[in-house]
Amino acid sequence: MPVQSPSTVISEVLLTEQQIQRRVRELGAAISADYVDLEPVLVGVLRGVVLFMADLMRAIPIPFSIDFLSITSYGAQAGPGQVRLLKDLETSIEGRHVLFVEDMVDTGLTLHTLLRMLRARDPASLHVCTLFDKPRLRLVKLPLRYVGFELPDRYVVGYGLDYRQRYRNLPFVGVLAAQVLLPNGVGAEGESS
Ligand code: 5GP
Repeated sequence: MPVQSPSTVISEVLLTEQQIQRRVRELGAAISADYVDLEPVLVGVLRGVVLFMADLMRAIPIPFSIDFLSITSYGAQAGPGQVRLLKDLETSIEGRHVLFVEDMVDTGLTLHTLLRMLRARDPASLHVCTLFDKPRLRLVKLPLRYVGFELPDRYVVGYGLDYRQRYRNLPFVGVLAAQVLLPNGVGAEGESS
């Protein structure tokens, strides 16, 4: 059975499992305090957010519900941030307090598009919680209410983040070793979320 050995595919660990778990618990506590009595709906975009959402949920003791979107990029020809909805929410968010849960905000273009779409559905409130933020790559101004970690401008994998659909299962976040990357660069399956 082929096994991904972290020591051969990761050149540098940026965040350990313990650091991530501790921060997720802190985010859960902050969200619980802010949303007590509001019964928020946590909305995530498949697939990268799955690990974060699962741990965050367990760190929030107040009542809430969850829902997911799935999107795909239109590709390079379409405008930046243009996405096609593969799976819509299954619940109405009209009048609900929505917390958009993201794994990573980079340029922010995808999130900008999705927030505009959700805002049009008249939620009572709409805020963002992202575990990872690369603020130096931001192209649009976005209000991020909760941020787990700021990351440098490097392509990372683990804790839900992939490279060509691999490495999502690593419990830590790290930089891929050069020998793992394809010659045409990272993110070949780019907006995989
Ligand atoms: P943007 O904010 O640029 O519109 O898109 C953010 C999305 O790009 C994230 O949800 C994630 O799917 C992807 N992304 C950005 N940076 C990284 C990274 O370092 N690693 C991985 N695996 N995906 C990333």
